Amino acid sequence: MPAPAITRVVVRPVVAPLPRPLRTASGVMESAPLVLVDIETSAGITGHAYAFAYTPVLLGALARLTGDVGTLLEGRAIYPADLTRWLRGRFVIAGTSGLLDMALAVLDIAAWDAHAKLAGLPLARLLGGDVAPLPAYASFGMDGLEDTASAAAGAAAEGFGAVKIKIGYETFAQDLAVVRATKHALGDAVALLVDYNQSLTVPEAVLRCRALDHEGLAWIEEPTRADDTAGHARIAAEIETPLQLGESLFGPQAIADSIRGGASDLMMPDLIKVGGVTGWLAASAICQAARMPVSNHFFQEASAHLMAATPTAHLVEFFDIAGPILRVPLQAIDGRVRASEEPGLGIEWSEEAVARYAA
Ligand SMILES: [Mg+2]
Repeated sequence: MPAPAITRVVVRPVVAPLPRPLRTASGVMESAPLVLVDIETSAGITGHAYAFAYTPVLLGALARLTGDVGTLLEGRAIYPADLTRWLRGRFVIAGTSGLLDMALAVLDIAAWDAHAKLAGLPLARLLGGDVAPLPAYASFGMDGLEDTASAAAGAAAEGFGAVKIKIGYETFAQDLAVVRATKHALGDAVALLVDYNQSLTVPEAVLRCRALDHEGLAWIEEPTRADDTAGHARIAAEIETPLQLGESLFGPQAIADSIRGGASDLMMPDLIKVGGVTGWLAASAICQAARMPVSNHFFQEASAHLMAATPTAHLVEFFDIAGPILRVPLQAIDGRVRASEEPGLGIEWSEEAVARYAA
């Protein structure tokens, strides 16, 4: 019996609140501009997914693009990997980098959600994994010495075994003061990760990261421009702390290229930028072959399913950008997250919240 057909793709932009603005060395995110996708099917099942537009300036364009591309899916059967291969084939000559990649990815994720619901399984189990609790880290911004240290201490008290903070202050002395205060607040049992959000030149990154080698950090993330593979490879070769990259790489091929270029020790694909569930599965296999530990970036509800099925899974990022518009937000319990046991991804909208935050 063939799979049910897609009858309609509904796209809605919302601006959801964040618990606090996310400050990085490369800009502040005040809120979460999200594109919500519903893929309706002839079986009466609807697949849900969301994409993050990073800035409200891109929200309208990403929503319109996703809606326009989504109309191409109407009438087609729900076979998510086939749908994505077919859809990407329509844009070979146009090219897909950037927003179009993001639109294709969020449609892919919603199609997988529908597919898993039709199978009656949580996505993790459909992919051959379980929904056991996975170790997670709590993620914080660049909030100055006191606020950063106290937020980190709060996460440790909740049971997180790892905490990430953002640095890249004007001087290295400030970076060091924040790192040491946070490390002191966490104690030795909790791993500390730091994220430069691409803010340093390569020579500055070598100086700062080398100096941080003595601070016992579990990773240093994106010290320089994410598209500078050679620059990251130079930094990685000069430092002892593991170097983390991946959230800014578009598609599994970019991840393969980054690994081949020796740009990092660890990989953290972003579920949207890597190309949705279909893209993640390819990236996961590439990382498995390279023996590269894999974490995720954002999109914790769907990423928890994928991390459960990723052979080299490392840490799940717990940073809630969609909780306010979800009926059942994902929880971290004792520093661990567990994918939903409901069929699909476990993403259901709170329609009242969606109406309240409609953009
Ligand atoms: Mg980052």
